[in-house]
Amino acid sequence: MLPQTQERGGVPYVPDLSDNSAPSEARKRIALHSCCGPCSTAVIERLAPDFDITVFFYNPNITDCAEYERRLDAQRDFIERYNASPGVDRPVTLSVGAYEPEVFFSRTAGLETEPEGGARCAVCFELRLEKSAEFASMHGFEYFTTTLSVSPHKDHSVIHGIGTRLALRCGLTFHAEDFKKRDGYKRSLELSRAYGLYRQNYCGCEFSRREAGIR
Ligand code: SF4
Repeated sequence: MLPQTQERGGVPYVPDLSDNSAPSEARKRIALHSCCGPCSTAVIERLAPDFDITVFFYNPNITDCAEYERRLDAQRDFIERYNASPGVDRPVTLSVGAYEPEVFFSRTAGLETEPEGGARCAVCFELRLEKSAEFASMHGFEYFTTTLSVSPHKDHSVIHGIGTRLALRCGLTFHAEDFKKRDGYKRSLELSRAYGLYRQNYCGCEFSRREAGIR
C-alpha cells in the first residue's frame, strides 16, 4: 500500500487502501523495470502487497541526457519518500542500469520515422526488457515485469509477448499484468500529483519528442 505522503503544497492526499487491505503471506521478489517515477507509483502500489520490489531503471531510449537525469531524479525522489512513509515495512530498492543511448540508436536504426506505437517502439521495449530480464536473472529474482503497460499509448499485447519470450529464455516468470487496467493510468496521475513528481510530456526518444511538437 502507499501510505500518506508528505505534502508538496497540494490538497491533503488520501491513499487508496481498498485493494491492499489484506496483504498475502507468501511474498516474492520481483525486478520491476521502470520507465519513470510517475509510472512506477501506481505499479508499486499494485505490486507491494505481494512482492518485495527492486526497481530497475534502464532507459537508453531517453536520448536527451538532461532529460534522462531529470527522470532518474524523479524516480529516486519517489522511492526515497515512499520508503520513508509510515507503514512501509519493506522498502523498495533501486538499481540503475547503464545510460547508453548509442545502443538505442543502433538498435532502432532505420526505424526513425516510425510513429509512436509502431515498429520502433517494439524494438525499444525489447531492448529495455532484455536488459531487465538479464538483471533479474543475474540477481536471483524469480519474477520480472515493467511499468510500460501503465501508458495508454503502449500496447500490452506487444509487451506481454516480449516479456514472456524473454522470461522463457532467462528462466524467469514475467508478471504480465496490464497495469493501465483498473484505472492504473489514472492512479499514476493522481499519485504523481500527490508526490509532486516531475512528469514528462513525451515518451523519451528524440523521435517521440519531435512527434510531440517539442522544440
Ligand atoms: S516513442 Fe517511446 S517507446 Fe517508442 S521508441 Fe521512442 S522512447 Fe521508445
